Amino acid sequence: MSKEDYEIVVGLEVHAELSTKTKIFCSCPTEFGAEPNTHVCPVCMAMPGALPVLNEKVVEYAVKAGLATNCTITRQSKNDRKNYFYPDLPKSYQISQFDKPLCEHGQITIGEEGEEKTIGITRIHIEEDAGKLNHNEFGSGSLVDLNRAGVPLIEIVSEPDMRSSKEAESYLRKIKSILEYIEVSDCKMQEGSLRADVNVSVRKKGAKEFGTRTEMKNMNSFRSIVRAIEYEAQRQIEVLEEGGKINQETLRWDDVSGKTFSMRDKEDAQDYRYFPEPDLVAIKLSEEYIQNIQNHLPELPESRKKRYLEEHGLTKKEAKMLTASKYMSNMFEDTLAICKNSKAVANWLLSDVSRILNEKELEPEQIPFTAENLAKMVILIDKGTISSAIGKKVLEELFEAPKDPEEIIKEKGWIQISDEGAIKEVVLKILENNPQSIIDFKAGKDRALGFLVGQAMKETKGKANPKMLNEMFLEELKK
Ligand code: ADP
Ligand code: ZN
Ligand code: MG
Repeated sequence: MSKEDYEIVVGLEVHAELSTKTKIFCSCPTEFGAEPNTHVCPVCMAMPGALPVLNEKVVEYAVKAGLATNCTITRQSKNDRKNYFYPDLPKSYQISQFDKPLCEHGQITIGEEGEEKTIGITRIHIEEDAGKLNHNEFGSGSLVDLNRAGVPLIEIVSEPDMRSSKEAESYLRKIKSILEYIEVSDCKMQEGSLRADVNVSVRKKGAKEFGTRTEMKNMNSFRSIVRAIEYEAQRQIEVLEEGGKINQETLRWDDVSGKTFSMRDKEDAQDYRYFPEPDLVAIKLSEEYIQNIQNHLPELPESRKKRYLEEHGLTKKEAKMLTASKYMSNMFEDTLAICKNSKAVANWLLSDVSRILNEKELEPEQIPFTAENLAKMVILIDKGTISSAIGKKVLEELFEAPKDPEEIIKEKGWIQISDEGAIKEVVLKILENNPQSIIDFKAGKDRALGFLVGQAMKETKGKANPKMLNEMFLEELKK
């Protein structure tokens, strides 16, 4: 038997920090990056006798996430205590939800047009984040920072519906995009505000039962998740092929060695001794409350995509790529508010802007220039003030030191040459230096014209008006 005889099965538990101003059970700020233990109070430090009060915004955000992922919203929900000991958890229990999560039975679609696949969402529940352990740089041991303790989280649990690392990545990208669109989380993976526990098993193709799974906790980069799934599936296949058994355990993925390591045996729900949180009342949601959130749900990527096809004449592929990120899509719309050339704007965003983001390993939310900057650049090209070759250079400048493109081209002397006399001078010079091209052109080799225009562009450092060059070369060549 070989790798091809097995099927990979993946299920994700995605944790997203909610972007509420205050924590889930106290009024401390949730802001990231403050001095350790400055965003704390008796409640989130777990002082005896301090009582939690549920932040209503947390419920609202979770319901939003549930509606956006086609879940059923639980009318009567509650909080539960999940008991375990760890130094970053001051109460020695986490307030979470056990048997009555706020949202259940949802689904989202992933994949290309025509080849879509539905991934089930088992549940979405609310819970509190734990603190952070910082390793003491002066000696042994760790220091606890409780700023993050009590920051609200939603946990989105998927069904084991994914069958490859690629599907797992698409699913996570889709979840990230939805949460960004509905503005409940900033989803900054590098800051840990979006992270996933990745469950992986393998089974022989055609088998009815799932294999035993292992779980890799707290993964926060797409690349590591894909690598970890590939590695772990291969490891499991090898164990099975050698006649071994998979141990249901929690693993740690190490990005440097590219391997998984055993952390502990998997704990069961009973290990956590869940029981209803006695210090909080049940969560009862009325029909009007849910309906009201539904009515105010921001536009989701699917509907934007449709709008781009109808209103802006984009292709399906363009619309899909633009709407994959809310920030990219907002950039598109904000630019169009100033400059009407939707095809050109879409093109710039999907080709050069995306390429530079890739090269610099930036996400769309990190684009340094404004929509106004981009709009002005497109307008300058449309007016013929600069060529699109110069536009590319302006864009590079916008990434380095964003400012008004008009200023950039003035400073750099990049204004397009559209003066007939000046163009003619260049054309004559190029013709004089390339007699062979003239012969080629007259012999019917049309490519010679392109070569000459290219030379003229080089001569003028991309500043000559290409349309005028073309016309004037033709005129001269026909003489
Ligand atoms: P726990 O919190 O104990 O990990 P949950 O049931 O909340 O358990 O989450 C289990 C996760 O593991 C879900 O995302 C589910 O889809 C996934 N999962 C369950 N069984 C398998 C399996 N055999 N292979 C891969 N993933 C699985
Ligand atoms: Zn607090
Ligand atoms: Mg789990």
